[in-house]
Amino acid sequence: MYLKRLEIQGFKSFARKTTLEFEQGITAIVGPNGSGKSNVADCLRWVLGEQSAKLMRGKKSDDVIFAGSDKKVRAGFAEVVATFDNRDHKIPVDSSEVSIGRRIDRSGESEYLLNGQRVRLLDIVDLVLKSNIGTSRYTVIGQGTIDQMILAGPNEVKNLLDEASGVKTYYIRREKTLRRLDQTAQNLMRAEDLVAEIEPRLKSLR
Ligand code: ATP
Repeated sequence: MYLKRLEIQGFKSFARKTTLEFEQGITAIVGPNGSGKSNVADCLRWVLGEQSAKLMRGKKSDDVIFAGSDKKVRAGFAEVVATFDNRDHKIPVDSSEVSIGRRIDRSGESEYLLNGQRVRLLDIVDLVLKSNIGTSRYTVIGQGTIDQMILAGPNEVKNLLDEASGVKTYYIRREKTLRRLDQTAQNLMRAEDLVAEIEPRLKSLR
């Protein structure tokens, strides 16, 4: 599995639709300061479900939308599609190519697509964790991140290890299941209340 293609439109400095094709192995992107090299890494992190505006080097979620320049008007939406070669089926989706897309408009609403079909953020997060692509800080390493990792406290280090070893997906599932259990316990309590209310009437009804 490897990243094959990135299609970027309206995302940060990429006003027009831009397609980047990647080969297997190492790719280096070079260019003058401020020309948008880190924006390429940002868009990959973003399409994989990143929710932190700060990690996207912005303040609000819609800061990733092209803000306009002297020559071009601002964009109304940002869209990124990342296509992975999946011939080895490391991404648990039954196709040899997997595309993950995300689109945001000025209202701040994000929409996610998996192979062209609309899905929930949760589906993307789950898939990304299962495939070990990870949105974590060690998959897409931004400027200054190495320093942060070296200086990280025990909790942060544990977080990184959880993600690298693939346990994090189980923590997330556990969290979800506990929430569901809690909901079920509440439903049960409500049902018991109803039974307690109705039961006394049974005798007279009989
Ligand atoms: P350096 O080599 O200095 O690290 P870089 O090539 O990595 O630079 P980036 O940080 O990727 O550059 O890009 C910064 C550029 O992206 C700036 O010119 C900034 O104005 C532009 N940019 C960021 N967000 C937006 C946005 N929402 N709309 C338009 N341009 C944006």
